[in-house]
Amino acid sequence: MKKHLVLVGGGHAHMTVMLRLAEIAQKGHHLTLVSTSSHHYYSGMGPGMLSGNYRPQDIRFNVKKMVQDRGANFIEDHVIRIDPSSRILHLASGKNLNYDVASFNTGSGVPLEKIAAKSDDILPVKPIINLIKGRQKLLSLLEKGTPKILVLGGGPAGVEIVANVWAAAQKQKGEADITLVSGSGLLKKHPPKVADLAAYSLKKRNIQILQGAHVTHMENGKANLSNGQTLDYDLAFAALGVTPSPVFRDSGLPVGPDGGLMVNDHLQSVAYPEIFGGGDCICFEKHPLPKVGVYAVRENPILFHNLLSSLEETPLIHFEPQEDYLLILNMGDGTGVFHRRNIIFHGKPAFIIKNWIDQRFMKTFQVSGERNENLEPEQD
Ligand SMILES: Cc1cc2nc3c(=O)[nH]c(=O)nc-3n(C[C@H](O)[C@H](O)[C@H](O)COP(=O)(O)OP(=O)(O)OC[C@H]3O[C@@H](n4cnc5c(N)ncnc54)[C@H](O)[C@@H]3O)c2cc1C
Repeated sequence: MKKHLVLVGGGHAHMTVMLRLAEIAQKGHHLTLVSTSSHHYYSGMGPGMLSGNYRPQDIRFNVKKMVQDRGANFIEDHVIRIDPSSRILHLASGKNLNYDVASFNTGSGVPLEKIAAKSDDILPVKPIINLIKGRQKLLSLLEKGTPKILVLGGGPAGVEIVANVWAAAQKQKGEADITLVSGSGLLKKHPPKVADLAAYSLKKRNIQILQGAHVTHMENGKANLSNGQTLDYDLAFAALGVTPSPVFRDSGLPVGPDGGLMVNDHLQSVAYPEIFGGGDCICFEKHPLPKVGVYAVRENPILFHNLLSSLEETPLIHFEPQEDYLLILNMGDGTGVFHRRNIIFHGKPAFIIKNWIDQRFMKTFQVSGERNENLEPEQD
């Protein structure tokens, strides 16, 4: 029987499925991708785009063209609710979509609402498209003087963003007063040597690092900190960690503690076998996985296999997550901080390795001439 496969979100975990859709279409199945944007931006190179090292076109995938060229429909919309008993997706536009098998790769967002209302001068670092707006704002502030830039969050994203804000200012021959508010501390989930190397690299460029304090509220260019301090800012980037997209909790599906779709080791909903998921939006039942693209990328072949098997009613395969992963921080000055197991170092070779890995990923999945596209204003 011919079925309808709906992919929700054209993110990192769906790349292989999107690239190989023609193989599913050949079996006669009907295919649709619903995503909030025609383009998907690769987070691994987002900070490098903020600094001006890469152009936006270098780090994005035209997912609309990718799936249309392979026989699928593309719908630019937002899935706001899932009705799993009648297999219907409700879209923000008011339309409904039926599915036989659905796969979610809806990612995660920065929970900014806890400390600030939406505003033009506070940019969550996800979706990555925000970093384009961030760069434009930063360049315009640098033209006028010495802006005060705040970066919130002492995790890998906060470190990369603050380092690349500095790099953007350097490239413009401008000056910025840059502060990283690191919350409980810098790179707390990584060995102290990783944090020390990153801190050394940032401090020698006069980037201020505040440890042991977090922002409690921000409004109108003023950020209140838990230690009683108030910091002025012209532009702030929020890298406060991420939470999965809320659609699963809103739909009453089984979820993990952070609201991610609870999946078994087939990457399949524990309650609805025709629903699958990958990337930041899932909670892996055996043990929650870190919210890093590495796992999303590794889930790709499993999702491709299991979606096809689910349509064709053949056996599913298991996802076995690797225990640890390679971390390379882009420090914006042509260097990186490298960490894999007990190998930790800082220097140019680390960035060369990161750039090589990232460019290889882009080459594999940028199949629609994205690098030659003109940049059009768009929403994610
Ligand atoms: C600044 C920064 C740098 C990072 N660098 C690295 C790195 O170097 N290496 C690494 O491993 N990880 C890195 N990460 C982590 C990485 O971004 C995430 O783990 C990764 O993006 C997860 O991919 P994803 O496909 O699950 O989600 P996303 O990349 O968020 O993609 C989700 C997609 O779904 C779409 N979507 C969302 N909601 C809906 C909806 N309701 N309906 C339809 N479509 C929807 C979105 O438009 C988007 O296209 C970084 C994160 C940040 C913030």
